[in-house]
Amino acid sequence: MIDNGVVRTRMAPSPTGELHIGGLRTLLYDYALAKKNKGQFILRIEDTDQKRLVPGSQDRILQVIKDYGLSWDEGPDIGGSYGPYIQTQRLEIYQKYIKELLNKGLAYRCFCTEDRLTKMRETQKASKQVPRYDQHCLHLTPEEIQKNLENKIPYTIRMTIPRNQTIVFEDLIRGKIKFNTNDIDDQVLIKSNGIPTYHFAVVVDDHLMKITHVFRGEEWLTSAPKHLLLYQYFGWEPPLFAHLTVLLNPDGKGKLSKRTGSTHARAFLDEGYLPEAMLNFLMLLGWNPGDDREFFTLDEFVQSFSLDHLHKKSPIFDRKKLDYLNGYYLRKKTNQELFELFKKYLPKSTDDQLEILIPVLKERIVKLSDLTTQTKFLFENIEYEKELLLKKGTDSSLAIDILTKTKNLILGLNSFNFEILQTSLMNLISTNNWNVGEFFMVFRVAICGSAFTPPVVECLPALGQEKTIEKLSIAINKLS
Ligand code: GLU
Repeated sequence: MIDNGVVRTRMAPSPTGELHIGGLRTLLYDYALAKKNKGQFILRIEDTDQKRLVPGSQDRILQVIKDYGLSWDEGPDIGGSYGPYIQTQRLEIYQKYIKELLNKGLAYRCFCTEDRLTKMRETQKASKQVPRYDQHCLHLTPEEIQKNLENKIPYTIRMTIPRNQTIVFEDLIRGKIKFNTNDIDDQVLIKSNGIPTYHFAVVVDDHLMKITHVFRGEEWLTSAPKHLLLYQYFGWEPPLFAHLTVLLNPDGKGKLSKRTGSTHARAFLDEGYLPEAMLNFLMLLGWNPGDDREFFTLDEFVQSFSLDHLHKKSPIFDRKKLDYLNGYYLRKKTNQELFELFKKYLPKSTDDQLEILIPVLKERIVKLSDLTTQTKFLFENIEYEKELLLKKGTDSSLAIDILTKTKNLILGLNSFNFEILQTSLMNLISTNNWNVGEFFMVFRVAICGSAFTPPVVECLPALGQEKTIEKLSIAINKLS
């Protein structure tokens, strides 16, 4: 259905929560296909499932997409020629089209009560049948229907599914797919409150919005035959479908889940993953460039994207790979670019402290939120056991000697910068014949309250002379 050669793709999130990271991947592929072909990418809000709506979620979804540096050509906030772009604002449109199906006998009113439907399903389950609507209302006479309408009996509208027909379509990723209509339920298209279900609204909207390619999750694959039948009923040409693979947990066990960490697009930003790193990671999670390139800016991805390199196999959401990419993009940034980012994660730092910390820490963090833990000692005295000071088997009296002499040295310094500190400490170590490793373990624990820390001497100027002395005194007291 490529009208005048214009590729139009869409992302159609439901405002039922946060945007899942898998949704962001779908969106990225939609975006790339449209941009590569100089087409349009559309954002549509699918809010027909009113029970599941989460207040504020629509705005948050739009915002997080923008925060990842992506945009749309038509959508709820900016409009476009095929709006409105929020499904509950399109109810009259769906009414018009459902009437067409009713008139053609391709949809029918179902007056069955919830109670009857539940009993029917239970009976079917008990006799090991696949639960599905028994088409009771398909066989109502026009008089019965009329009477029910006059009596204002609530009804849904279901699509009529023919029996024993094969529906075949060519999925862009999975190739030829066949379904038998005997496995398809007479799907409700309009609920009793007059609002369409996803299945009806998605078809009407994709058609009216002239969508040419639909990327969506694998979970929608079994819905495809219903949608294709609807296209047939209306005499419309369907878009091309690409049902993307699901993302798997890093251990390969099951769908990506909270068990192994964040799953929402927003959470990754909050943790301090850079948008460009996450997008680069997602680009390769279901697609490859056909060679071994692994770094792509968004523009480069758009230029390289093609439908023939989409993966059939579910990818593992390899968080280590994501960390690696994030490190790469972090270290590519200039210290000046990092300033605002660091500031956000270290709100208690002064600008001078940030200037000192950026070059030291940018090499050592995986994601920006690591900064908070790595620099905690700058803003508070960390509790630790005195044994930690002696971790390298250092004698308590030697540790006291190390800490006292170091404290005296620092007390006497007129300037407190890295070079001076490094030279004076190294001199102190050699004058006293201390073991360098032992010295630094005692010193590190005294300053940072931990044996694993960023380079301690480099951080001292950010800690300041007074605080350094205070921490050394605390350590001496612990041992005395
Ligand atoms: N509203 C659906 C969802 O939230 C979109 C499915 C589709 O892209 O067709 O997943």
